[in-house]
Amino acid sequence: MKYRHIEKLGIDVSAFGLGCMRFPMTKDENGREVVDEKISTEIIRACIDGGVNYLDTAYVYSNGLNEHYVGLALRDGYREKVYLATKLPVWDCDGKDYMYEKFEEQCKRLGTDYIDFYLVHCLTGEKWRKVKDLGICEFLDDLKAKGRIKYACFSFHDNYEAFEEIVTGYDWDMCQLQFNYMDIENQAGLKGVKLAGKLGIPVVIMEGLLGGKLANVPSDVKEHFKAANPNMTPVEWAFRWLCNFPEVATVLSGVSTMEQALDNLAIFDRTAVGIMSEAELQTVAEAREIYRKRIKVDCTGCEYCMPCPMGVEIPKIFAKWNYSYMYDIKDGSYKKLVEENKDASQCIECRACMDKCPQGFDIPEMLKSAHEHLNA
Ligand code: SF4
Ligand code: SF4
Repeated sequence: MKYRHIEKLGIDVSAFGLGCMRFPMTKDENGREVVDEKISTEIIRACIDGGVNYLDTAYVYSNGLNEHYVGLALRDGYREKVYLATKLPVWDCDGKDYMYEKFEEQCKRLGTDYIDFYLVHCLTGEKWRKVKDLGICEFLDDLKAKGRIKYACFSFHDNYEAFEEIVTGYDWDMCQLQFNYMDIENQAGLKGVKLAGKLGIPVVIMEGLLGGKLANVPSDVKEHFKAANPNMTPVEWAFRWLCNFPEVATVLSGVSTMEQALDNLAIFDRTAVGIMSEAELQTVAEAREIYRKRIKVDCTGCEYCMPCPMGVEIPKIFAKWNYSYMYDIKDGSYKKLVEENKDASQCIECRACMDKCPQGFDIPEMLKSAHEHLNA
């Protein structure tokens, strides 16, 4: 296993961070849904035996069961071999009592009395302002001072401006970002990764394969990668590209089978900072362009066309349409818009939106095509 030195914390972390959220579920003897303890334990221990020393879970994963099963797998001396990361859910947080209660519950579930990397889960700018007012910074300071957590961190889903506000708003030890070769301008993006690096804050990567979409790539992208190197899979291209960044501490990979675990152990062993040649970087940039050419409508999401008098969610529909073509997938979330009467079929072609669109799109016509595709 390759390790990466985190200057700020003075520790070495494995390039492959085991994401525990995708362990398979099964039924117990009472018919209740549970995490498959045998498989999850085997995967966790095989990864640790293979050199992984960073494990990522959260209060809410596997319908709230994940931490318990991670805790079971970490018995028999495995806990001491890893940096354990879990996340505090804050969407229902109403004060410090809630924070302390959740933390104690998490320790109990995990069978440990301390957490290495404790993350405030899924921060947006709005959530950050809320929990800051509720005293999250003092709470994290207190847990650190008592040795109950080693590092105070956050995971993030919002835009760059919100990221800048949060990352500079407290003395964070790490941040966890959605980042991959397609998301360089999405969420915190490449600019966010670079800012964290400049501040000396290590970055843990999530969604490195964009929910599996960069593993099961469309045939033209697959051929492109194959032509550049017949021995490298799309998964390896994606992880190799991430590990090339010096700002990246570890890349989380959510594993659900032993085969994936072993594959990841081998792939990350071939990664390093700065390992990618100019030609390889160019290959990834070209793959990104192949994806982008699949875009149906170059909608910027500016929302100038909104609100539609009929409630049609124009930019959301265009985003789903693009996404579906780019990644060659059926997007089931369109159904929700249909149920809420916010889908493209509600358009009465009043054309009010067209006057406001700076791109000059024929929105009603495009909505018809989008609906045909998404509703198929
Ligand atoms: S043309 Fe359709 S989408 Fe545009 S404002 Fe009118 S009803 Fe809404
Ligand atoms: S105004 Fe045009 S570019 Fe902006 S969100 Fe609406 S359709 Fe997209």
